[in-house]
Amino acid sequence: MFSKILVANRGEIALRVIRAAREMGVGTVAVHSTADSDAMHVRMADEAICIGPPSSTLSYLSVPAIISACEITGAEAIHPGYGFLSENAQFVQIVEDHGIKFIGPSAEHIRMMGDKITAKDTMKALGVPCVPGSDGGVPDFEAAQAVARETGFPLIIKATAGGGGKGMKLARSAEELETAFRTARSEGKSNFGNDEVYIERYLGAPRHIEVQVFGDGRGNAVHLGERDCSLQRRHQKVLEEAPGPAISPEIRARIGATCAKAVAEIGYEGAGTIEFLYENDEFFFIEMNTRLQVEHPVTEAIFGVDLVREQIRVAAGEEMSFRQEDLVVNGHSIEVRINAEKLPNFSPCPGKITQYHAPGGLGVRMDSALYDGYSIPPYYDSLIAKLIVHGRDRPEALARLHRALGELIVDGVDTTIPLFRALMEEEAVQTGEYNIHWLEKWLETNL
Ligand code: ADP
Repeated sequence: MFSKILVANRGEIALRVIRAAREMGVGTVAVHSTADSDAMHVRMADEAICIGPPSSTLSYLSVPAIISACEITGAEAIHPGYGFLSENAQFVQIVEDHGIKFIGPSAEHIRMMGDKITAKDTMKALGVPCVPGSDGGVPDFEAAQAVARETGFPLIIKATAGGGGKGMKLARSAEELETAFRTARSEGKSNFGNDEVYIERYLGAPRHIEVQVFGDGRGNAVHLGERDCSLQRRHQKVLEEAPGPAISPEIRARIGATCAKAVAEIGYEGAGTIEFLYENDEFFFIEMNTRLQVEHPVTEAIFGVDLVREQIRVAAGEEMSFRQEDLVVNGHSIEVRINAEKLPNFSPCPGKITQYHAPGGLGVRMDSALYDGYSIPPYYDSLIAKLIVHGRDRPEALARLHRALGELIVDGVDTTIPLFRALMEEEAVQTGEYNIHWLEKWLETNL
């Protein structure tokens, strides 16, 4: 086992990793920008190193600064968290070239899944069901028209390098095709430096269902069921739950086995998520994320496992601590993402926390780097807390979430807490009968 690891992240996810490491007796090094000198992850780690100014390009994304921090402190491995450098294949290559272990998949697998066309081709070949559409990249508008004739409208044009909802354009009709095609290309070029696009059938009212997988890098892999992340705003997840209200144990076992087999076959290491759209009892692969996800705690809750601990174990060359048959769903879990944002526009709302009180009690987990008097800096993501509840079944989890939201106090800045309090009253949330468009429509009339 490692004696010391460096956590190349900030906020709640840095705490999450530090906590797992501490329970394992592994030392931790926090890195931080000058804006984060007072941050909780700096206080909680065994050691901390300042790696640059506030701008994340010059700090949390600075590869030389992070490698130097490793060398100075003698950290043997790097946990990237999510975001920042977590899916940067070049970073992984440099880390490994310096004799430091990257806690996560290989650079090759990150590269493979980071390019959506390659990812789709790979998954298709591994027997994972995909959204019908173009066969790989679409080089020009004439080719796009040919795909449209075959696939039919509506369709969606996606940048192969896209992410975070960027580089994705809907075309409802032949008239909209040209604009959508050119916009997706230019967004791909300007945001990700790659203008290659592909085309998919646009699914009308699917759910977003994602399967958690975990591999040991030596050809063994398991799945940990699914999460339903259909409540989205601008393609960004807002509330996640596991198991999915629409997924039966039989369906879970079938899609889970397909996913576990696929990642076992490529020798995948660590945590990964295979994302699908789910409509009319059919799964359609959209992308694979080669990192720990924000919403991983709902999976941990229902399976009673620590995914970060597992990541660190396999990175150190140990075996996974569970086999597929050990993984049995227990109850229901829901997570809400609490952002420092002002409603109704969700504009970022950094500032000083004048009062903070976290909820507690049975089945409540609060993953947050907040504390009384903390000042949320304006430079980073607006996620400030994840409230996760676990109950014996979905109604119990919902009641617990409702109760916990009532206890939670975050004063001094605007947050999305009122949104979740309002959502608790909605019938669709109570029944679980929603799709990826439900929240957008609700926001139009309710905020
Ligand atoms: P990103 O990498 O930008 O997050 P994804 O490919 O994961 O992009 O898609 C994000 C979201 O966009 C999905 O959760 C879904 O809401 C919507 N979406 C993507 N592909 C389709 C499709 N073929 N039909 C309908 N909606 C889609």
